Amino acid sequence: MPMDYLGDRQRNLSAGPKTGALTDDAGTSGLAAFRTEGLSKTYGAGGPNEVRALDGVDLELPSEEIVVLLGPSGSGKSTLLNILGGLDHATRGTAWFRDMELTAMTDRQLTRYRRDHVGFVFQFYNLVASLTARENVELVTDIAADPMPAAEALSLVGLDARLDHFPAQLSGGEQQRVAIARAIAKRPEVLLCDEPTGALDSRTGVAVLSALEAVNARFGTTILVITHNADIERMAHRVIRFQDGRVIDVSRNPDRVAAEGIRW
Ligand code: ADP
Ligand code: MG
Repeated sequence: MPMDYLGDRQRNLSAGPKTGALTDDAGTSGLAAFRTEGLSKTYGAGGPNEVRALDGVDLELPSEEIVVLLGPSGSGKSTLLNILGGLDHATRGTAWFRDMELTAMTDRQLTRYRRDHVGFVFQFYNLVASLTARENVELVTDIAADPMPAAEALSLVGLDARLDHFPAQLSGGEQQRVAIARAIAKRPEVLLCDEPTGALDSRTGVAVLSALEAVNARFGTTILVITHNADIERMAHRVIRFQDGRVIDVSRNPDRVAAEGIRW
């Protein structure tokens, strides 16, 4: 089992303080994983249905933290996640991943960025129904540069006993954990999770959150979790509150609780 999950690439990137050291009231210091300045996204600009999904977002997200992004439906959370993940373009402003300016990239460069650096977890698991848990993860490990074995990724999310099960034979929480295993198997530096427990009850949702927590603790993966479930903020290192396309509050969580202790 490879102990040095992050590999040379991350060490090299970490060596150059190109996005600036980050310090806050709680004394956190480190290199930002993401940074945005004046990030804005407008749909239907100038038309009658113009929507300012993001309206000047300034953020710095430190590496190796679990960040929970809270906000009402329609406040721009997914739009932000999609831009940070290289799935969408901003209208104005800048977004950086470490020393890479996402907002200056072509689609081709964004595709490469996603492939090399980002794991995604969405509300609906998007597993291939005709493939087993192991085979679903292998879809990713077959094309990644330095993947972990699919069985190892599934073990990390507590699914050792489910390697050869098909999605229909798994609970919703187990399916989401397969999706997390698929996302982490390529050893991404960041995991972007959009409502990962949105379709789950409390008990199975907690198992999913525990899997995310384990990945962060073990590998130092930066994890951004979007939710409108305020209980989930209790496991975060940092909580960002969003409203109307803007950040209204960023706070450190001094009293983190283990995901196991969260109920909703
Ligand atoms: P959240 O994830 O917080 O619920 P979103 O980022 O999905 O919010 O959406 C923010 C706003 O942008 C909403 O008003 C939404 O209707 C609008 N929006 C999102 N995607 C599109 C799109 N492709 N075209 C037009 N409007 C959109
Ligand atoms: Mg959303």
